Amino acid sequence: MKSYVVIGLGRFGTRIAAKLYELGEDVLAIDTNEAVINDIADNVSKAVIADAKDIDVLKGLGVQSCDCAIVAIGSDLAASVLVTMNLKNLGIPQIICKTYDETHSEILRKLGADKVIIPEHIMADKTARILSAPNILEHIELSEDYGISELSAPKTWVGHSLRELNIRAKFGVFIIGVRMNDQTKISPDADYIIEKDSVLILLGDYNSLEKVRNAK
Ligand code: ATP
Repeated sequence: MKSYVVIGLGRFGTRIAAKLYELGEDVLAIDTNEAVINDIADNVSKAVIADAKDIDVLKGLGVQSCDCAIVAIGSDLAASVLVTMNLKNLGIPQIICKTYDETHSEILRKLGADKVIIPEHIMADKTARILSAPNILEHIELSEDYGISELSAPKTWVGHSLRELNIRAKFGVFIIGVRMNDQTKISPDADYIIEKDSVLILLGDYNSLEKVRNAK
């Protein structure tokens, strides 16, 4: 079990705090707003009304012993900056900040955030990718160049083994799994034969994934 502190319980902070707790993690939630603390109290390990801009308050709460901090104060950059600096000074091993735009993201990264996420951008990019390619059923961006896509197997691949299709050499993608109905076969071997309605889980760069998507 890892210990997390989530600071700022707007929609994002509330969701991530409750989800981490549901997944069995230890979660300390902090917000200046009493109402949101009351709302989250039953869904985290501990919920505290406090101003995270004050480093002594954070120390008093034992935040320095957390493995990971999530700063989810999007609309107040000054608060987000001060809180991130405090967490850095407390030596938290992993600091993740949520923000609204690239400029804020750059500032927070320079201050020591290990990862800065802009949830609206992530969701918009993912939705656009899925919309522009109807046979992509799910997509996870791993970096600017690489991702994991789930897509229906091209019709002409059905009945052939992965060895025959030679997918890695021809398309430059890795088949990391194949799903049929509710069963997922992870890392299928070369003799695996693709069936009608198989869903392929592919890892590769976007150009290579695009080639598979267009394969007939
Ligand atoms: P959402 O996730 O809903 O988009 P947001 O990114 O717009 O939220 P805000 O609404 O600005 O973020 O702030 C989220 C929460 O952070 C609020 O509940 C606010 O009370 C809390 N917050 C702001 N400053 C501090 C602070 N210094 N210490 C603790 N909590 C704070």
